[in-house]
Amino acid sequence: MEVRPNDQLSFTVPNEQIIEWRRQMHAHPELSFKEVNTSQWVEDLLQGMGIETSRPTPTSVLGVLKGTGQGPAKNIGLRADMDALPVQEETGEEFSSTVDGVMHACGHDTHTAMQLGAAKVLSENTDLFGGTVTFVFQHAEELNPGGAQEMVRAGAMEGLDGIFALHVMNAPVGTVQVRPGPATSLAGGGWITIKGQGSHGSMPQNSIDPVLVAAQVVVGLNTIVSRSVDPSHFMVINPGMIQAGQAPNVIPDSATIGVSVRTRTAEDTDLAFRRIEELTNGICAAYGASVEYEWVDAYDIVYNDAALAAQALESAKKVAGDDNAWEGEISSGSEDFSAFANEVPGCFIILGGGDAEQGFPFQIHHPKFNVREDCLAIGTALEVQLILDLLGPDTAE
Ligand SMILES: [Zn+2]
Ligand SMILES: [Zn+2]
Repeated sequence: MEVRPNDQLSFTVPNEQIIEWRRQMHAHPELSFKEVNTSQWVEDLLQGMGIETSRPTPTSVLGVLKGTGQGPAKNIGLRADMDALPVQEETGEEFSSTVDGVMHACGHDTHTAMQLGAAKVLSENTDLFGGTVTFVFQHAEELNPGGAQEMVRAGAMEGLDGIFALHVMNAPVGTVQVRPGPATSLAGGGWITIKGQGSHGSMPQNSIDPVLVAAQVVVGLNTIVSRSVDPSHFMVINPGMIQAGQAPNVIPDSATIGVSVRTRTAEDTDLAFRRIEELTNGICAAYGASVEYEWVDAYDIVYNDAALAAQALESAKKVAGDDNAWEGEISSGSEDFSAFANEVPGCFIILGGGDAEQGFPFQIHHPKFNVREDCLAIGTALEVQLILDLLGPDTAE
């Protein structure tokens, strides 16, 4: 059964337009830092709505809309990310990606479409609020060091009193989850390169085999969480990538392991990287191999501002119904939205895009990830309602 926003709201959402935008963007995905056509498309649409735009970075867009009604003279931001992933789409949808090996597998197409929907509704109803709405269309969420911190450096958060972001997730359509405090996990990691000594495969005595050493390192890394970490703490250490060699009869010179690390405190992050290096150094030394590390800056934990989270929960109940909005759990995922939320009060909201029972069993980043599109109207309505609740005439200053 189709889910719709509460019909008592003071505005209507252009459902079909939002779905059309989502499908158009889904069919034409662009990778992180390469959102050239997408950002132009977004900027053109915003300008068509009479919204003033600017470009903090080459592929990001800011839209600024001033209310003409009564309300607090605050500036509230809404953020949508626009980049896609290097994933080959397998949804079989008629609006599937037209770009080989690139897919909107994290729902950023839905985020952009919903926020364009909110921009359209608000631009047609400026008399319903005072203050300013800033639409933040962000590039490069998926690729470290992330687009958000670039936008912060370019001054995109200056003058904002708060910022919200929605993310679709594998949860029932029509539901919203938003919690005060930590909302996501810290994500870091990088590459471990093991250097050995290559040789003919038939003369292993002349080699230091980096494939064998890498295999032992992978096993070692998988013992850190079980043996070095307090069982009540959250930590993931995932050696998700391993590359070495070209042929079965050759022992290569080097092997590279890509590792992703998720934690919820700075102390645990330090512990994770210390143990990764201790174990790897020890294993490499035992075989006479050397090792180099290349760690990338982590995405910080997203901390939701308590007041904004309480407001988001209240607005979500108005839009989706009292039973369909709750605090939810801390996500094991991570988000560079933390770069914004570390500058101004921020709030990251989870929007149900469909779950297994509704026929949507695949998680974000899966080649078959998809959403049930009636979630889009809920998300757009929530964004608009949040602005009206924070910048409308009935708002207590
Ligand atoms: Zn993602
Ligand atoms: Zn995402």
